[in-house]
Amino acid sequence: VPGDVVLLESGVRVPADVRLVSATSLEVDESLLTGESVPVAKTASAVEPEAGLGDRTGMAYSGTVVARGRAVGVVVATGDHTELGRIAEQIRTAETVESPLQERMRRFAHIIGAVIVVSAGLTFALGLALGESVADMLLVAAALAVAAIPEGLPVVLTVALALGVRRMARRNAIVRRLPAVETLGSTTLIGSDKTGTLTENRMSVVQLWIGGAPIDLDSDGVPRDPLGAARRDPPGPEAGPRELALLAGVLANEAAVRVTEEGVDATGDPTETAFLVAALRHGLDPEACRSTWAEVASIPFESEHRYAASYRAWRDGSHHVFVKGAPEQVLDMCAAMASDAAGTAPLDRQAVLDAAHELAQQGLRVLATAHGALDGPLEDPQRPPEPEGLVLTALVGLLDPPRPGVREAIAGCRRAGQRVIMITGDHAATARAIARDLGIVEDDDAPVLTGADLEAMDDRALREQVEAVSVFARVSPEHKLRIVQAAQDRGHVVAVTGDGVNDAPALKRADIGVAMGRAGTDVAREAAEIVLADDNFVSIHAAVEEGRITFDNVRKVTFFLVSTGFGTFVIIPIAMALGWPLILIPAQLLWANLVTKGLQDLALAFEPGEPDVLDRPPRGRREPVITPALWWRTLLTGAVMAAGTLYMFDWARTQPATSIEEARAVALTTLVVFQALHLGSSRSELRSVFRLSPFSNRFLIGAQLGALGVHVAALYLAPTQFVLRVEPISLEAWVRLTLVSLTVLVAVELDKAVRRRLARRR
Ligand code: ADP
Ligand code: MG
Repeated sequence: VPGDVVLLESGVRVPADVRLVSATSLEVDESLLTGESVPVAKTASAVEPEAGLGDRTGMAYSGTVVARGRAVGVVVATGDHTELGRIAEQIRTAETVESPLQERMRRFAHIIGAVIVVSAGLTFALGLALGESVADMLLVAAALAVAAIPEGLPVVLTVALALGVRRMARRNAIVRRLPAVETLGSTTLIGSDKTGTLTENRMSVVQLWIGGAPIDLDSDGVPRDPLGAARRDPPGPEAGPRELALLAGVLANEAAVRVTEEGVDATGDPTETAFLVAALRHGLDPEACRSTWAEVASIPFESEHRYAASYRAWRDGSHHVFVKGAPEQVLDMCAAMASDAAGTAPLDRQAVLDAAHELAQQGLRVLATAHGALDGPLEDPQRPPEPEGLVLTALVGLLDPPRPGVREAIAGCRRAGQRVIMITGDHAATARAIARDLGIVEDDDAPVLTGADLEAMDDRALREQVEAVSVFARVSPEHKLRIVQAAQDRGHVVAVTGDGVNDAPALKRADIGVAMGRAGTDVAREAAEIVLADDNFVSIHAAVEEGRITFDNVRKVTFFLVSTGFGTFVIIPIAMALGWPLILIPAQLLWANLVTKGLQDLALAFEPGEPDVLDRPPRGRREPVITPALWWRTLLTGAVMAAGTLYMFDWARTQPATSIEEARAVALTTLVVFQALHLGSSRSELRSVFRLSPFSNRFLIGAQLGALGVHVAALYLAPTQFVLRVEPISLEAWVRLTLVSLTVLVAVELDKAVRRRLARRR
């Protein structure tokens, strides 16, 4: 509401129109409002009253996106009163949400429909040629078309996709765009961030390296005497290197910790909170340090520059700068380093890099801290310069344990024919150590490509490398985009994770962009197809499983509808050609349509998924819903069902004292029983129906029994007997038609057995 205070940082979508009260290196993308695609620099200073929208740099507008920096603002307008609200009508466009699969299926249904309409026309002509009346044949042809056209297909498809989306959401993968559900099943390469996705993002400082001396810290991360510690006076500029290192960690830091009865309550980036906790444990009170060292200006952490800096003034009026960041970056700003005793030594770049490498090889995330004294106050605190001439105080090793279950999920991805690669901003050695720990690479000297390597490589070389290298370290978001493109050019279907503003292009470009729900920015989430509620790699694996199940179910429903449609259709013209009386009257055809397709097809969408979904290779991107093998089975089962129904009709009508009504009732019942049994065997493409638990899909068994129950009731109740022109059928007819209907199971089981054997041989 107006008056609320809003904190802005890079990647945030501004929630309301806000007047900025402080801003640090703030740049906002206002293209939504002004059409200007270059981000606009914003400050807290006043502007001319008559400034146009694009020039009001003291404001951040609702719906625009923070590209860089941090700011604090006060809400002045919300909802319809915002600048965006005023033009909302113009930009409120509906996004089409039909997936390629839906589109393909719609076309498929149209083709099938056209084939059926033509066939119905031919049947009509056949009837006339055989001397039936035009009126009768019109009804028959129309009913035939209705019975055979899989008009339920688009609906069932939508339901199946919706169920897939729901199941994924239960497993922490929130689908933002429907096509993702099917694309997931074809994914062949998953590019994952390291920090937070593969690891827990619960960091703790476990190692310090100061002037050549490593210092081991306990790894539990909880201060033993935090309240006692808080009593100490904050260290000044003359303190020893350890204190100065901890101080840099506290001051060049945007996170906050509060010491409570239960322990430490931290908010902010885990890398940053780890520094605060470490400081607490060593007797520094972060809040006291921050208030004593007054902040003059700051350069907040951004992935591209890999460091954070803070300009501070000490009590005596002297000015200083504190930095923490990636060792390579910080080293470039340093002129000297702290020695283990107080005092400084000349900078030994190689020694520092070697030590950093040493720490990284243990899988630790390595940051460096540094500080420097300034000659005087900054000229322009709004635009602080990059620090230089600093003294390196320490290397800091942070432990970030792998998430539980990730190792198994990665092995699972491999079994499912998917490669997992790590794309991280972290140090190469750290990345390799963790990749090895998680099973992304096998050996200790697996190749790692760094951002610098990528810079030196053209796209063609990268395409070669992307097949061989599984760890990409020290990469920036643009590199991530290039990696995605290279993999796609190699024919991969790529899923990639991302969280920052600059990850958006890679997320958009990938076949499946996966954004982090917790650590991710609004921009990343909006660019992504899928958002992980728990930021966990394991959820990607789960989503792949659900995606495959969903596609399988779509395939099963389609097969069921097409094969039963085919089986129903052909009996009419065949019976006519044989010179028999009409085998089913139009009302009966419609009844069969209602009973079979009403609920039974839908029930297949609820199939729980087969045990081997994650053990087979990804589905080819162009693989049709109905494969040639399934077309063959469609013909087979359709033919068996038609033959069985024709046989039962012929048997019944040639029994003594049997009316044509009863014979038709026998034929209709045969068809209904056939379809209910066929539904059962359609539940799996390769596994025997006798191996499927009838209770694993309660909806389906309910639909089967329901369809049979309704049909039996129709046979024996007067009103439906009248409408459907049916009569009760004899016990012998029941026995025979049940046995005949089992032939469809026999046919499918044989076909499944043959295909299982073929699959095994391959
Ligand atoms: P990732 O999270 O994949 O490791 P980032 O882009 O977030 O990649 O970080 C890149 C590097 O920047 C890290 O390896 C670390 O050295 C440094 N870094 C990360 N977070 C911070 C931070 N809050 N302050 C200073 N430096 C940081
Ligand atoms: Mg990060």
